[in-house]
Amino acid sequence: MMKHPMNLLARLFGKRDTAALYRPPQVFLTNTLSGKKEIFVSRKPGLALLYSCGPTVYGPAHIGNLRAYVFSDTIARTLTAAGYRVRRVINITDVGHLVGDGDRGEDKMAVGAAREHVTPEEIATRYTKLFIEDISDLSIDTDDITFPRATEYLKEQIALAKTLEEKGFAYRLPDGLYFDTEKFPGYGKLGGIHGVKLEAGARVEVVKGKRHPADFVLWRTAKPHDLQQWDSPWGRGNPGWHIECSAMIRALLGQEIDIHTGGEDHINIHHNNEIAQSEAANGRTFVHYWMHNAFLTMQGEKASKSLGNVVYLSDVVKKGFHPLALRYFFLQAQYRTPLSFSWDALAGAASALDRLWKLSRDIASESKRVAVPSEARERFLAVMRDDLATPQALSILWDSLRSEDYAPEEKWGLLEDAEAHLGLSLTSAPAFNAVSAEEMPEEMRDMLARREAARAARDFTEADRLRGEIEQKGYRIDDGSEGPVLTRVTL
Ligand code: AMP
Ligand code: ZN
Repeated sequence: MMKHPMNLLARLFGKRDTAALYRPPQVFLTNTLSGKKEIFVSRKPGLALLYSCGPTVYGPAHIGNLRAYVFSDTIARTLTAAGYRVRRVINITDVGHLVGDGDRGEDKMAVGAAREHVTPEEIATRYTKLFIEDISDLSIDTDDITFPRATEYLKEQIALAKTLEEKGFAYRLPDGLYFDTEKFPGYGKLGGIHGVKLEAGARVEVVKGKRHPADFVLWRTAKPHDLQQWDSPWGRGNPGWHIECSAMIRALLGQEIDIHTGGEDHINIHHNNEIAQSEAANGRTFVHYWMHNAFLTMQGEKASKSLGNVVYLSDVVKKGFHPLALRYFFLQAQYRTPLSFSWDALAGAASALDRLWKLSRDIASESKRVAVPSEARERFLAVMRDDLATPQALSILWDSLRSEDYAPEEKWGLLEDAEAHLGLSLTSAPAFNAVSAEEMPEEMRDMLARREAARAARDFTEADRLRGEIEQKGYRIDDGSEGPVLTRVTL
């Protein structure tokens, strides 16, 4: 392994002075606040505080949600590789907020509890576990992340709401305690909406007494059928959704943090509301870099359960794909580019990753895993540090690994860096298992025979179509001198 620059400095000068001495390389990130690419400068030298809005654990996270976590993981990996210590928090929303950003609708945790005939707590435990398993399968190091549950931070949420009320930023209604957006100058600064869209948008609420359509609930008065409710200075009730992130960030990372991420759907309402609450209560800048990922769509449509086009990681695995094929698929697009999912596109990503793994195994043996720097590595680092340009990074990786211009040790060095940034198991490529004739599923044997027949008849279009179908089932075909060999990625 190549030496981490901070470790080298720590050896030379002792741990205490290392952070002050280390000048990290420049990393550029697009900040939604300015709408521009900016040089990243952390508040404390050598330390980056990173918060990502987490899932509501009333069901499994779909692959669109997973894109959001691979995105924040790519930020963390890039900053870590640039020498920062990154402190990460992803919250777990286990309080029943209402479906949608607004103040009306159905309680998601109650929906989950009714669906599975268990308590909201059991639903939360079940899907928190699944979420952490899913993101681990995508090579996100969950030991490095704090996952606070909203129900464990009620005291902090109540304290924050109380501060806002004491400072005159909130008013009471029979429905609950509301944030008064007109008292907060600059409300809506994220995404440059300044309340315009909020007034004209579809989320105009009809809560009686609300002073402005953009005002939002900090604490909601309990309804008799509410399964989750707690005592508060405003009576029994439950916290508003936005207050959870503000309160947990303050408790775990402090009043001022470096980076806050989420999907672009959160810009207008959720994140503007987080800014309003935190800056009104703390009297200082809340987040220095707001970063948002574009959406994953399902063949151009928004993923939604009612359209029946939601895909989970379990579906990906059931179809025989390695979970990292999904990560590779995400990385083929820069995080600010919308990405359209299809099973064919995933099969393409799976087959590319498979070939990359094969290349990596060959290079591992040729280089004996000795890494040396190269100009290819510099180019790779430069594009990753330029707003996480993962498609360019992948293309540098491919070109360099296939090029004759680099020694195996240089290629191995590049693979180590690529692994640190991309998390695709590039330096420990999974093994493939050859599938013997006896263990071959009937369906696969049949497809293989049909492909052989098509090849014999020189119908290469049909042969390629069948190859695609076989690959989609999680197998790879190598046409050897003894006939086709079928291999399967070990999951
Ligand atoms: P939610 O549980 O709805 O708050 O979503 C969790 C995270 O996934 C948030 O950061 C959302 O913005 C993000 N997200 C939701 N749907 C998608 C999607 N289709 N593509 C990308 N990110 C998404
Ligand atoms: Zn949030």
